[in-house]
This record gives sequence, C-alpha cells and structure tokens, in this order.
Amino acid sequence: MSLLKQKAYQPLTNESAVELALELNIFPGHAKLSCKEIGDGNLNLVFHIVEELKGKSIIIKQALPYAKVVGESWPLTLKRAKIEADALKIFGQIAPDYVPEVLFTDDVLAVTIMEDLSHLSIARTGFIKGETYPLIAKHLGEYLAKTLFYTSDYGLGPGVKKERVHQFINPELCKITEDLIFTDPFIDADTNEFEDSLRPAVEALWHDEELKFHVNVLKKSFLTDAEALLHGDLHTGSVFASNSETKVIDPEFAFYGPAGFDIGQVFANLLFQVIVNEEKCDLFINHIETVWNVFEEQYTFLWNTENKEIAAKTSTFLNYQLYKFFGDSLGFAGCELIRRTIGLAHVADLDGIEDELTRITAKQKTIELGKILIKQRNEIKDLTSFIATIKERI
Ligand code: ADP
Ligand code: MG
Repeated sequence: MSLLKQKAYQPLTNESAVELALELNIFPGHAKLSCKEIGDGNLNLVFHIVEELKGKSIIIKQALPYAKVVGESWPLTLKRAKIEADALKIFGQIAPDYVPEVLFTDDVLAVTIMEDLSHLSIARTGFIKGETYPLIAKHLGEYLAKTLFYTSDYGLGPGVKKERVHQFINPELCKITEDLIFTDPFIDADTNEFEDSLRPAVEALWHDEELKFHVNVLKKSFLTDAEALLHGDLHTGSVFASNSETKVIDPEFAFYGPAGFDIGQVFANLLFQVIVNEEKCDLFINHIETVWNVFEEQYTFLWNTENKEIAAKTSTFLNYQLYKFFGDSLGFAGCELIRRTIGLAHVADLDGIEDELTRITAKQKTIELGKILIKQRNEIKDLTSFIATIKERI
C-alpha cells in the first residue's frame, strides 16, 4: 500500500524510499532507480536515489524518532522535520542561490525530498583536505544578510513576524543547544569530553566566574531575543561548497533567536581553520573579514531599501543594530569554540590532528580565544580589533 496513503510514520528503507520516489512521479514510471543511505550526520536518515540510465538524482531526508548517534534511548521529536522543511522553503525563497531546492515534504513521514548536491563537498571536509572555496565567504555573508533581515520585524512587519515566531517554536532542539553550548561546557557535566592534558584549562573555565557571567548573558539572549529566523546550526558541516557554489543545508534547529548566533557559528567554524591551518591562516582570516563586510554592506542596503519600520530607518539605529550583532557574534563564536573543543560534539578540524602535541596546542588556543571573545565581545568594537585579537592568540 502507498506510503503516503497510510498516513502513519515509518522509517524508510532503501526499498521504500524508492517506492516513495516512484509514487510521487519524481522519475518516469519505468525508471530504474538505485538507492543508498548516505547520512553521516548525527540525527537523521539521508537516502541518495539515482536513476541508473539518465543519472538524474534526488535526496530524501527523513527524521527518526530518536537521535541516530545515540539510539532509541535519546528520543527526539519528529516535528523537527517540519521545522526543517518550512525553514528550507523560507530560506530558499529569500536566498535561492544558497539553499537546496525542495521538491516535496510530508510531515507525517517526516521527510523532505530535495535537490541532490553530491557534486559539492561538505565545506568542513573540503577545508581539512586543503580547499579554500574562494567565494564561500561572500556567499555566506549574503545568505546571512538576506535571511536575517527578511525574517526580522524590519523585513516582515510585526504581524507576520509574530506568526513566524509561533510557527518556529522548537523547544526540543533549542534545549540541545542550550545544554551543549551554553551550560555543559562550563560545569563538570557528563556530556563533556576532553583529553586529560586539557583538564587544567577546562577546570579553569569552570572556576572563572567572570566568564560564567558572560555566558549566562549570552544564553539569556539565545533564550529571549527573537530577532530573526535562525538556521540554528550553521557550522561548516551544514554547508556544501565548491569553488563556485555554496548551499546551506540542515536547518532543523531553526527558531527565532539572536541574529549574532548564526554569524558567530560561521566565525567560529572558520576560526578552527585559522588556528589549525598554518599555511592558509591568512586566507581564512580573510574569509572572516569578507563574511562580515558582505553581511554589513548587504544588511545596510536592505535596511535602507526594504525596511517596514519607517521610524527605525535611521543611520544611528542601524549602527546600533550592527554593533549589537557584531558583539553578539563574537560572544557566540567564543561559546562555539569552547564547546566544540571540550563538549559533546567535537569537530574534525581539531580531533583529526594526529600529532598529540599539535592537537592539544590547537585546542588550548581555541579555549583561550573562546574565553577572550566571550568576555571582551563588547570592547572589540570592529573588524580591525577582532582580527588583531585573533592574531595575538594564534
Ligand atoms: P543531519 O541532520 O543528520 O546532520 P544533514 O542534513 O547534515 O543531516 O545530512 C547528513 C549528510 O547527508 C550530509 O553531510 C551530506 O553528506 C548528506 N546530504 C544531506 N543533504 C544532502 C543533499 N541535498 N545532497 C547531497 N547530500 C546530502
Ligand atoms: Mg548535519
């Protein structure tokens, strides 16, 4: 019986994923399809379906009712598939060049069928292999400016914006971020994971009252500042890239939060390469500058041309906004640097370094830079002092 007519959730297999694609007439009826589950992520199933003759291909992503990395002992709402599908559609309308095309979604089966991006590589993996993707920073700056402006009160007007806030209430996935980014790394929690030689540096974090104060301020902003629809997990593992294209995937953590959170995750994940990739350090610093410069330029343009809040369209208020976003980005980047070093979810940029001394030295730098960015985010007033702060610490 048809999967869609059953109106009940069931996890797909390679066979039933093919049946679903055929039922939806995405391929011609007589097409010979092959299917492979390729998900390397922590949470979901990802099926790659290829038509053998013509080579046309699609991706079916399906949420499981638990986190794939941990298993059934960590239940997780299927609603996240609807959040992801809705966010992909909204971001796709706002920034079509930088988001995969969505072909079909079903909330009961918790699936999104989308454009296959297999001709691109996950940016983190590419960076580790030595790629630099010359346009990625410009593209991400533009993606951030457009998504963060057009989903805000200034881009949407307050009525529609409030409906969107409601649509994207995402408590379970936000709780994961709240715990893993803002709480656990700063206390002696079971989820933390770090080498013994980092223990003195980690215990220093746990006893740093000034740091913990600032992390609480940032967490409060994450909990309460409904500024824009965030991607919510914008690390370099959520970005597909080549030398000419950039596509942002995987927005299941989307919710209304502080704009600087998305920008800060981009900064932090570029900073891992600044710290570990000595040869190309300047190039990645340049990427960080470009992300901010393009963001600032395009956000300013949208502010002046598309602003629905007539009375807010002053340069003083725009500067206040940009200054807030910048400081928030540095603070959130600091939290991301620390949690990816000592928390539950690490990054291959650091953990992939085989030589122990090199790896530990890099991790000490990410922890120290993270601390400074969190504490000094409002004193580091512009890009020049941000870059100077980075260079002092690497
Ligand atoms: P998760 O939410 O489980 O992290 P992701 O959306 O990050 O899932 O996808 C996991 C992996 O599946 C990606 O790293 C990528 O290798 C592959 N993938 C996801 N979406 C696509 C796509 N549109 N085209 C090609 N591969 C994809
Ligand atoms: Mg992912």
